[in-house]
Amino acid sequence: MAEETIFSKIIRREIPSDIVYQDELVTAFRDISPRTPTHVLIVPNVLIQNVNDVLPEHEQALGRLFTVASKIARDEGIDEDGYRLIVNCNRHGGQEVYHIHMHLLGGRPLGPLLSD
Ligand code: AMP
Repeated sequence: MAEETIFSKIIRREIPSDIVYQDELVTAFRDISPRTPTHVLIVPNVLIQNVNDVLPEHEQALGRLFTVASKIARDEGIDEDGYRLIVNCNRHGGQEVYHIHMHLLGGRPLGPLLSD
């Protein structure tokens, strides 16, 4: 059984966070240390540690991450200029929180994909 992270508490609204969207499958909230003017994390409500643990039964929730990313980008007014979606996996991917999440980053030009 995967261990819960702080994101489960955010999903259940047990700790404060800036939730911008929630439905029965996913929750989206502003990153606590934003790297860009818009930095939102979109997570499935069910705990999946990372991409290595994705199963066919997760497809609906994980597909919803994109639908919601598209909606939030529109709501934030960054859809025309563009933005970046990132999903980190494990150590080399730079994953810090082991509850799979999509970063929605935008609001300024982001430059090349990798800085080093
Ligand atoms: P990752 O490196 O892909 O695992 O990203 C984890 C992200 O979660 C980082 O950008 C953190 O700033 C963010 N984060 C950690 N704790 C919180 C929290 N309580 N509320 C919002 N974002 C958080």
